[in-house]
Amino acid sequence: MPSADEPILLTPGPLTTSRTVKEAMLRDMGSRDRAFLALDAEVRRRLVALVGGEDSHVCVPIQGSGTFAVEAMLGTLVPPDGKLLVLANGAYGERMVRIAAIHRRRCFVLRTPEDVPNDVVALAQTLERDPEITHVAAVHCETTSGLLNPIERIAEVVARHRRRLLVDAMSSFGALPLDARATPFEALAASANKCLEGVPGVAFVIVRRDGLLAAEGNAPSLCLDLFDQYAAMEKTGQWRFTPPTHVIAALSQALREHEREGGVSGRGARYRANCRLLVDGMREMGFVPLLPDELQAPIIVTFRMPADPRFVFEEFYDRLRARGFAIYPGKLTVAPSFRIGCIGHIGAAEMRAALAAIREVLAEMGVASGRPA
Ligand SMILES: *Cc1c(COP(=O)(O)O)cnc(C)c1O
Repeated sequence: MPSADEPILLTPGPLTTSRTVKEAMLRDMGSRDRAFLALDAEVRRRLVALVGGEDSHVCVPIQGSGTFAVEAMLGTLVPPDGKLLVLANGAYGERMVRIAAIHRRRCFVLRTPEDVPNDVVALAQTLERDPEITHVAAVHCETTSGLLNPIERIAEVVARHRRRLLVDAMSSFGALPLDARATPFEALAASANKCLEGVPGVAFVIVRRDGLLAAEGNAPSLCLDLFDQYAAMEKTGQWRFTPPTHVIAALSQALREHEREGGVSGRGARYRANCRLLVDGMREMGFVPLLPDELQAPIIVTFRMPADPRFVFEEFYDRLRARGFAIYPGKLTVAPSFRIGCIGHIGAAEMRAALAAIREVLAEMGVASGRPA
């Protein structure tokens, strides 16, 4: 059971990992060790297979958190004379706009409110109107709210207009299906420490091989140059700079556990069950989720802040944390809120224990209902 020392992380990453994933790190490997290079090649192969990209795409890992991969993807694939269209409905879409500005790439933003999916009709109209747009960037699950964007319809529109789609699939990869053969994308970025249930320290881009090979010299950065990283790996089998060996070993174990669970569909099913338990249990206490069920991805749920003045979020957070549950503050600009994640190495028992702890904490605080204003 969770404790203040070993909490359950109900957050969007880092998140709760299995003991076996943590134990996979109890081994030092050199960056040139044959054992490490074999592990690394296997991890890259498995990641490509998870999106059905074996015939078209390659996996380029990059040291760092997820944003490093997003920045590497945009910087390497959008050329200096290209133009990016970003579909934004939260902080992660806005982060891509910021990256494009820092890279001095031309960028057009199509925004919808944080509780409204990307506008596919406006996307089609914009692509028709502006032939200079070369790439479209979208966030599959916008972790700011927990909203699922219509990535299949976006991909269809982008392909029909012969542009290239770049996906931030950070909080969906491994749990929500995305297949390169059915949903055309140029590249996606994701990381080890979300739905794959690995530890933080490595991210990766899955990119069309021909597109990557045409991207030499685009990147405004040495470290975040996917072409250079890939070319060096192809030539030497090794990473350019110190690889996060322990993190790759943990990811290798995490991918084996992912496969044993039934791959993307098995993992997605567990998260959907977690999400259902969470939303139903919170509704029973009067809490109201931001999103209607049909827009909610089974990754992280945003709840509106209760109206009761006795509900002080900091106190609620601290009391839950003392019981061994870490939740997450809100990131919305539209309304005060907080978030609870459904992902990580957790299941029905942990979700029920979290709900019981929330019920106890509300009673201690004298809050009768989580109902918002
Ligand atoms: C977590 C996340 C990222 C990357 O965040 P890091 O803190 O850099 O790991 C990017 N996009 C989305 C949608 C995410 O959920």
